[in-house]
Amino acid sequence: MNKTKSNYKLSALTIERLANVVPHPRYGSKIILSDQGTNDKPIEVTHFSFTEVRFPESAILADKSKHNFSTMSHINWYMDTLLDCLTCRKPFLFFALEQQYWYETLRFRVESVCLNCPNCRKTERELQQRWQRYSNLIVREQFADEELLQLAEDTVFLWQHGLLRSEQRLREIRNRVHRQIQRSSIASELDKLIAAIKD
Ligand SMILES: [Zn+2]
Repeated sequence: MNKTKSNYKLSALTIERLANVVPHPRYGSKIILSDQGTNDKPIEVTHFSFTEVRFPESAILADKSKHNFSTMSHINWYMDTLLDCLTCRKPFLFFALEQQYWYETLRFRVESVCLNCPNCRKTERELQQRWQRYSNLIVREQFADEELLQLAEDTVFLWQHGLLRSEQRLREIRNRVHRQIQRSSIASELDKLIAAIKD
């Protein structure tokens, strides 16, 4: 395909959002041109709080035979899509290649849309992993030192992200770390969290 530079004009707001997207660890922060793409004007769909912008120059034809069955919606083309993160409100790109991976390889239902930027998704995954590990460890009576340190680290992270709210639990773990492992940086972090509660 003979591609020429697109001649449409983007709005000032879209230009600003594109300049500030949260980078994706694999796909970066720029629209990825596709051989199948066209130079058509971007497609804008306005939601309650932001405008979704889809870029036809990045279009990749969907292989619908690989989609999870859905009666609710269908996708013919994937396109790099500018969105705003539901959690931190920053703009991010949901890439055509990423959509292809989601709907054809992972077989997520095509109704499922990406709501959060790569950073917030990473934090969410980390919270889930740490919560799982914390839940497995907290019920135990005995800990090896490294297990206790892991539990203390997970406790700090979960507390800082608002998932853990029991002050008593925080104190128990702090006391345990102090008893079992005399000197550790995590113990002073726990002390700081507890001191902050009193203020
Ligand atoms: Zn975010």
